[in-house]
Amino acid sequence: MDRRGFLYTTFGVLALGHSITAQEESDTNILILTGRKSPKLYGVNHRLQKDAADAFEKMQVAAIKDGVKLFSVSSHRNFNAQLRIWNSKYDKFKKQGLKGKEIIEKIIEYSAFPGASRHHWGTDLDISDLNVQQPGDPLNPKHFLEGGIYHKMYAWMQKNSNDFGFYEAYTNDKKRKGFKFEPWHYSYKALSRPLLFEFKNVNFTKNIKSELIKGNKYIDKAFWDRYMEEYVLGINKELL
Ligand SMILES: [Zn+2]
Repeated sequence: MDRRGFLYTTFGVLALGHSITAQEESDTNILILTGRKSPKLYGVNHRLQKDAADAFEKMQVAAIKDGVKLFSVSSHRNFNAQLRIWNSKYDKFKKQGLKGKEIIEKIIEYSAFPGASRHHWGTDLDISDLNVQQPGDPLNPKHFLEGGIYHKMYAWMQKNSNDFGFYEAYTNDKKRKGFKFEPWHYSYKALSRPLLFEFKNVNFTKNIKSELIKGNKYIDKAFWDRYMEEYVLGINKELL
């Protein structure tokens, strides 16, 4: 913090009326990392931290020249948004006959635990291509592979996204554990890597556990330790 009361954090500068302690700075970071507070967000059709938003807009301009109209399906999501996704999937899979831990395992094939989504950070987004007819299920990996409607976009991203600082998070690497292949999910590495480093130290009992999350009685410290190892860290090695 400088003497005028500005706090320089991983999330940019916060103007504050009083002196800020290291403890308060760390508390603010934890709230942002777990989706309880939003970082400053930019963009109209996407909501990302400044550098990520600027880089995404540059990438959109470059892609359009090659006939790909990159569009953000989902970018920043707070804890409550992730909670709605989680709880509605919980109800859906329960109705289908799954029970307890089976439901949790099914949800985490594609959806993060509320409080532990990379979408909380304002650095990650899911994309589609507006130049093609949108399918009813845009987030289906088959659309991105050879012959699929988003294959042109996926091939373009494979070739060019790194030049703009974006990396596929959940690659098609069979050795990777955690979330299934998500060819639509990209992360702005320069911002997300330091945040992941901080996230590794977030305390499960204090900062993650919540009564609002359906099935939370099945989520204990052992689950969390496995989730951290396989899901949070089971990503493209470039982002670690
Ligand atoms: Zn995503």
